[in-house]
Amino acid sequence: MQPMGNEKPGPPSFPGRPIVSPFVASPPTGMPFSSPGPVPGPTGYDASGYRNTAPARFNGPAIPPPPLPYGPPAANSYQRFPTPQFPSFAQPVPPLGGPPSSGQPTFPSNFIPGAGQQTMPPPPSYHLQPQIPSVPMGPPPPSVDLPAARANAPQSTLPGVPSMQYPYRQADPIPQVPAVQTSPFVAQRGGYAAPPLAAPMGLSLREQMQYSAGGPPMGSLQGLIEEFNSLSVGSVPGSVEPGVDSKSLPRPLDGDVLPQSFMENYPLNCDPLYFRLTTSAIPSSQSLLSRWHLPLGVVVHPLAESPNGEEVPVVNFGAGGIVRCRRCRTYVNPYVTFSESGRKWRCNICSLLNDVSGEYYAQLDANNIRIDINQRPELTKGSVEYVAPAEYMVRPPMPPLYFFLIDVSVTAVRSGMLEVVAKTIKSCLDELPGSPRTQIGFLTFDSTLHFYNMKSSLTQPQMMVVSDLDDIFVPLPDDLLVNLSESRSVVDAFLDSLPSMFQDNVNVESAFGPALKAAFMVMNRLGGKLLIFQSTLPSLGVGRLRLRGDDSRVYGTDKEPALRTPEDPFYKQMAADLTKFQIGVNVYAFSDNYTDIASLGTLAKYTGGQLQYYPSFRGSLHGERLRHELARDLTRETAWEAVMRIRCGKGVRFTTYHGNFMLRSTDLLSLPAVDCDKAFAAQFALEETLLTTQTVYFQVALLYTSSSGERRIRVHTAAAPVVTDLGDMYRQADVGAIMSLFSRLAIEKTLSYKLEDARQSVQMRIVKALKEYRNLYAVQHRLAGRLIYPESLKFLPLYGLALLKSIPLRGGFADAHLDERCATGYTVMNLPVKRLLKLLYPSLIQIDDYLVKAPDDARDGENYLRKVPLAAENLNPKGLYLYDDGLRFILWFGRMFASDIASDLLGVDINSLPDLSQINFCARENKISRKLMELVKRFREADPSNYQLCHIVRQGERVREGSLLLVNLVEDQIGGASGYVDWILQIHRQVQQSA
Ligand SMILES: [Zn+2]
Repeated sequence: MQPMGNEKPGPPSFPGRPIVSPFVASPPTGMPFSSPGPVPGPTGYDASGYRNTAPARFNGPAIPPPPLPYGPPAANSYQRFPTPQFPSFAQPVPPLGGPPSSGQPTFPSNFIPGAGQQTMPPPPSYHLQPQIPSVPMGPPPPSVDLPAARANAPQSTLPGVPSMQYPYRQADPIPQVPAVQTSPFVAQRGGYAAPPLAAPMGLSLREQMQYSAGGPPMGSLQGLIEEFNSLSVGSVPGSVEPGVDSKSLPRPLDGDVLPQSFMENYPLNCDPLYFRLTTSAIPSSQSLLSRWHLPLGVVVHPLAESPNGEEVPVVNFGAGGIVRCRRCRTYVNPYVTFSESGRKWRCNICSLLNDVSGEYYAQLDANNIRIDINQRPELTKGSVEYVAPAEYMVRPPMPPLYFFLIDVSVTAVRSGMLEVVAKTIKSCLDELPGSPRTQIGFLTFDSTLHFYNMKSSLTQPQMMVVSDLDDIFVPLPDDLLVNLSESRSVVDAFLDSLPSMFQDNVNVESAFGPALKAAFMVMNRLGGKLLIFQSTLPSLGVGRLRLRGDDSRVYGTDKEPALRTPEDPFYKQMAADLTKFQIGVNVYAFSDNYTDIASLGTLAKYTGGQLQYYPSFRGSLHGERLRHELARDLTRETAWEAVMRIRCGKGVRFTTYHGNFMLRSTDLLSLPAVDCDKAFAAQFALEETLLTTQTVYFQVALLYTSSSGERRIRVHTAAAPVVTDLGDMYRQADVGAIMSLFSRLAIEKTLSYKLEDARQSVQMRIVKALKEYRNLYAVQHRLAGRLIYPESLKFLPLYGLALLKSIPLRGGFADAHLDERCATGYTVMNLPVKRLLKLLYPSLIQIDDYLVKAPDDARDGENYLRKVPLAAENLNPKGLYLYDDGLRFILWFGRMFASDIASDLLGVDINSLPDLSQINFCARENKISRKLMELVKRFREADPSNYQLCHIVRQGERVREGSLLLVNLVEDQIGGASGYVDWILQIHRQVQQSA
């Protein structure tokens, strides 16, 4: 293990610093997994020099579980509890009761897999984290008055919206931050520019009577333009039937649009790339919230990649330590304010007036702005990354560790999976993050387990077979995980020989459960990333699964949801154990037949990992996708042994979390290995009937170990106004964040309820929201024949419809294969907003003009690409179209498409083939083919998180055309599900009922 740079372990040098111990990481070497609870002992450091986790005794059950409201100022109550007693994430538990004799994790035995659950009180045996609100808060913050800032600060013109006050000077250009260090994660779109003047709220959301599809203006409603958007549902021209002019319907042809109001209200906020509120206007009261009907929450994408590669600034406070509020542990940020000549700062989250330490002191200018503001990114930027000193560690930062658990049974070999996997891993060895500390190991299995000794002194790996599945033991525990640099030649030799070693294997069995336990035993000293490659149903030993069958008769009954959840508790329990020991799991599932993805995916879900599903995998057809996605997984920057917490200001409280993680306490998300492709969602509630503040602040903190072995804390800070007007909430809604919450909530609902129930709940909430909104305006404007909605939510009905037709929720038994349904469900729970919206409403682009007419070198080739709505009527039989949902491409040839061009593109005469499933999509030796390949490459590069394989289909090609493309044209009526026009009519009818 490498020591921590210059950060010498030892007592803090700053005398006033709270004595805190670090967050709980994984256990030290050799600690038994079933270690008992904390053992009281002397305060101090363990032999390694790193502080132990020290669960304070009184942090246990005696402390009431979180959701306590902020009480009135309780005299002296604060003094009775010294600061460190309110540990928060990354601000570990104080050693008040003495640390345990070693730093074992203190997860309770009943550790609760937590995605999506209501937060629960900390289990009795686990003491990490009481929540901030259990602290009696001080009085409401005095109003912060910054004359200079105010002069330029945007003034709200809306009732109930505070004017903004910023601790920065508008006139000052924000300086370059010395780029001494860089974050391993690139980020921060556009960097920081002097904040623009925010438009008064509402103005930026000026509604228009125009639609992206270029529909006709909706009559003479100019007077209402400022207030809302509307859609005529009276009659279609030329028809007496009630209906909607399909052309006038709003469509998100440009995909996700980052919310503007978020930054306009508070220019110092972090980029919405990282943090999106479902509405940037927080309701001031419970009664207002009760009229919102949509989710109130956030989507957090803590390690999002910036499209332009900019990086989050890194701040190193050195010996002075990270500046945090001593009560609520908020990190210093642009919204804190300085006073008393620079000797004090006030926390924006809990209002406590903190002392400024000697190391952090700077004078204030006449406007109470620190004179060193230009050298302080933490005071000018919404996103920064702090270098964490030794107090934030329980052990030396772990090295990046990759362990591969690979099925080598007959299907794994014959499908070509084993070969692709072995070659891909080998090709990525030079790029695995963290060299030269990176560790690696392998375990293969069929009906027995095969361990590999990779000791560097060997020339060839030694294989050891364990066939006793009931009493798993690990032979040679010290040489199964090796340093990649030292053992590189052995690893190379192993990967070269792996495919041939099993090429004649006819074993059909799968001892997956025992193999998983063995992998856990090998990895649990260090933690790391466990990559599982599984191509058949686990059939032997613990965790064996049965063909549960996807029975049509079960649909619509109470037994239906059980199909989508793991039957054997083994999987949840293993996931809890893996997370506890900082092991994140990515599952790659390949199978021709049912493999119980519901069970296998559980391992990824509760360890912060991901599930990649390759149904009916064939190396020759699908190998390229596997190669790219596995390479991305292996080479993308990864945050190890991470935990994440979202703090929020007085009066609001996070209640539920949705995504792939495990809750370590009420609000601490455990993420053994997290990366730029993972997003999380959470809902919050008001704690009081009435919010007295004008602003609510949020702060996301992700504490992790970088691949280079540094502890880092990535912090995103944001603020949002508190409003008293329901219209403001709707106007400032973010449909992307709302759909993200809706999707996650609906998928979670399918785990306990019928698909139909999950769909109905989405539809009901959309109707209620639109009805509520209508009630704001309809009466005075007599809009009986119109569906009205805020501009911000113009795509809500369509995205809602798309969600109901998405694979996790659509139809019934016959409408999606059970494994595919579950796999997509697991995928969606991880997706960032932009990718989710693309999956819900994919792009469909007519490309034949581009291929034939666009000039070769011109950038304005874009003008030749025509995005069309997702309906079959938009497919011209003479055209060529590319469908892209982010996970795959479908290239659709119209029946009358020029056959010579088709031959150029495909290398064959398509009229001579009964179906196009066997055509290999690759570059041909002609210009037009190269042009297509470049276009496809560009689309892929726009989002490298998945690799879209290109499926080729021709108009009228029975079965394939329907199952590949037509079923995904969400605006069409498909099966029993409505088309877009009918859906709008249906929603309108329901909105008007008892309106
Ligand atoms: Zn505070």
